[in-house]
Amino acid sequence: MAKYDAIIVGAGAAGLVAAKELESYKLKTLIIDAAPQVGGRLHSEEVDGFRLDHGFQVLLSAYPMVKKHLDLKALQTKAFSPGAFLFSGAKTITVQDVNRNPAALFSMVFSSVGSIFDKLKMARLRKEALEQSVEEIFDRKDESTLQFLKDYGFSAKIINRFFKPFFGGIFLEFDLNTSARQFLFIFKMFSEGDALLPAKGIAAVAQQLKSQLKSTEFRLNTPVKGLQTGKVILDEGEEIEAQQIIVATDPQRILPQLEDTLDWNRTMQVYFEAPSNVFSKKLISLSFAKNGLINNIACLSAVQPTYAPAGKHLYSVSLKKDPGMSENKLEEAIMLELKPLIGNATKDWKLIRSYKVQKALPQVDQVVYERPFEESRVMDGVYLAGDFLLNPSLNAAMLSGELAAKALILNHQQA
Ligand SMILES: Cc1cc2nc3c(=O)[nH]c(=O)nc-3n(C[C@H](O)[C@H](O)[C@H](O)COP(=O)(O)OP(=O)(O)OC[C@H]3O[C@@H](n4cnc5c(N)ncnc54)[C@H](O)[C@@H]3O)c2cc1C
Repeated sequence: MAKYDAIIVGAGAAGLVAAKELESYKLKTLIIDAAPQVGGRLHSEEVDGFRLDHGFQVLLSAYPMVKKHLDLKALQTKAFSPGAFLFSGAKTITVQDVNRNPAALFSMVFSSVGSIFDKLKMARLRKEALEQSVEEIFDRKDESTLQFLKDYGFSAKIINRFFKPFFGGIFLEFDLNTSARQFLFIFKMFSEGDALLPAKGIAAVAQQLKSQLKSTEFRLNTPVKGLQTGKVILDEGEEIEAQQIIVATDPQRILPQLEDTLDWNRTMQVYFEAPSNVFSKKLISLSFAKNGLINNIACLSAVQPTYAPAGKHLYSVSLKKDPGMSENKLEEAIMLELKPLIGNATKDWKLIRSYKVQKALPQVDQVVYERPFEESRVMDGVYLAGDFLLNPSLNAAMLSGELAAKALILNHQQA
């Protein structure tokens, strides 16, 4: 008789949610992760009182899985203002969601983000996205976001000034090749809810999922080399038996027989400490400069004060790609690019850390909202979970964990 009913490889959002489901059926479960902490890509670090998330990441309150599995109040979240602040050199445009801030209507009508027709189309798109269910959105024709926006009649101006920087920064690719289904899903989520920062950083999401587990055992710092029927083989050679196994990570290394290779979108982020906040609103600032390094900049501590120690501010600068420079050169290049926007304010800024996230978002060929849970099973007693199975989002990661657990539980009950 195996020691465990189930082993889950991977303690990211997918693995933690799968464990929660297995616990509700009283299955004896072990989670194994190679990293020293749970959370996978939900990772934050504390450096001299600053909370540094590994890659700029927001928690969308409208995600169905967030509503189901997380207690936002306990996470003590704070929200960005809906909209964005766009800049190129010294030119700036504020884009506000007039439905959530009617007072912004006048300034939006006259803003130079796009033509009046673009703004009317934006209002129509928002209405359609709110009316459609996520299932309807994922049932629509699969085409690139760029093609969808062109076919919808948006001008090149609004595509280049708003959609490319905003959604490029979310998809982590700036040609908007990502599926229009994903675009509409995220557009709907932004229209329905808030973009949040938890008080203790994005890693707090994983900590809260972990805190919901009562009987699940954990082995961290423990890389898994492979699987054999009914057992997991660790890098160091130890074998652990389980009746069934969920692989809640890219299976390339553990299950090479699946021959699936995943490509990933990457990102680079640089954090600065500063004595003051130069942006008056709690908006994400997006660069639409053609040749710039920067995609977005945000004063995170202006939104969530816990991100910086008292009397200091934390700026996050996300780059379009890794320019391959030393940190000193990078700091200079960022300051130079920001100078037309904020003048000499950056002279007191100090680079804290920079992070390169090579595997940030999986490139999913056919994005779907969900799949029949039986499809999580890839071999006898082996199931897959992870955002890469559905679409690149936290919502998908959590949902994939539920689906894999459901398939495992059914098999357990039938055995
Ligand atoms: C910079 C960045 C920005 C993002 N922004 C957003 C956003 O704004 N909105 C949004 O919805 N999503 C965003 N995401 C995506 C979101 O974080 C992921 O979809 C989600 O966290 C993925 O969870 P997962 O459990 O599927 O995978 P992961 O978090 O990757 O978890 C996999 C786990 O498996 C472990 N593992 C891997 N191999 C082994 C092995 N051989 N042995 C043992 N353990 C192993 C890893 O250590 C890891 O803990 C962002 C991600 C990044 C990195």
